Amino acid sequence: MSALILDGTKTACQIRAELQAEVSSMQIKPKLVVVLVGDDPASKVYVGMKEKGCREIGMLSEKHVLPGNTPEAALLALIDRLNADPSVDGILCQLPLPKHISEHNVLERIAIQKDVDCFHPMNVGYLATGNPFVKPCTPAGVIEIMKRHSITMKGAHAVVVGRSNIVGKPLAQLLLAEHATVTICHSRTNDLPAVCRSADILCAAIGKPEIIKGDWIKKGAVVIDVGVNRVDDASLPKGYKLVGDVAYNEASQVASYITPVPGGIGPMTIAMLLSNTLELHKKRISL
Ligand code: NDP
Repeated sequence: MSALILDGTKTACQIRAELQAEVSSMQIKPKLVVVLVGDDPASKVYVGMKEKGCREIGMLSEKHVLPGNTPEAALLALIDRLNADPSVDGILCQLPLPKHISEHNVLERIAIQKDVDCFHPMNVGYLATGNPFVKPCTPAGVIEIMKRHSITMKGAHAVVVGRSNIVGKPLAQLLLAEHATVTICHSRTNDLPAVCRSADILCAAIGKPEIIKGDWIKKGAVVIDVGVNRVDDASLPKGYKLVGDVAYNEASQVASYITPVPGGIGPMTIAMLLSNTLELHKKRISL
């Protein structure tokens, strides 16, 4: 068996085209503000991709780059200004933040109506009770790619490996909302391979290169690989390659569908961010 590839690049491209069509008919364009503190190279790349995404579909974007030694109070003051700015629909503070800044304080300061990532504790609560302002981008991207490939979640046993606030836990909530039966695993789970083998839908959000092997996967399962890991490879121009949490070649012999890394959930995450910005804009102007 050779799995069908869930092509995130192609699916995200379709979503962006739909968003572009909607945005082009709007007189006032939605606006996303991205705040970057410090000069982490990976964060800079992610922020650049988000800005480019906005531009390509005709949305407005604004970037605030602050030095790595910015005091927490200065960052909170910027967020207060953005919260009060009526032209801003979505605010995103790129993580990770420098160690001297409390992530909790920053995420809690973003107005819930502008919390484009759904990281504010109140929005996390709304997500748990079923009615968030918007859904968190990466988990929403996982659900969307399955929906667009007519994968049945209802009744399926979904195993999520990883319990972070950003991916694992909210993904479990969204799968539950799709009527999957959900198991969440983590670093202390007993016999992880056996739990994975029981999954109809296996979602990996671990951050460990190719830890999930082909023989951990049930024949015909859907495999969603959220992980993005850099692995040194001197033969490549950049000196590294990106791999997921799943041993892709082995897994694709067993699974029915699989997301590649790169080109799977990464582009879907950006598409969902743009979609969320539009959603928040529509909610704001309808108030
Ligand atoms: P975190 O480090 O916050 O969480 C990792 C989770 O994996 C934890 O719950 C941890 O368990 C669990 N874990 C670690 N080791 C093992 C193990 N050996 N067996 C089972 N579980 C284990 O990572 P994130 O959730 O933020 O990200 C996960 C991955 O997804 C990363 O590779 C990240 O780069 C990627 N990512 C990709 C995105 C995209 O757009 N494609 C967006 C966001 C993240 P415990 O809680 O017990 O420590």
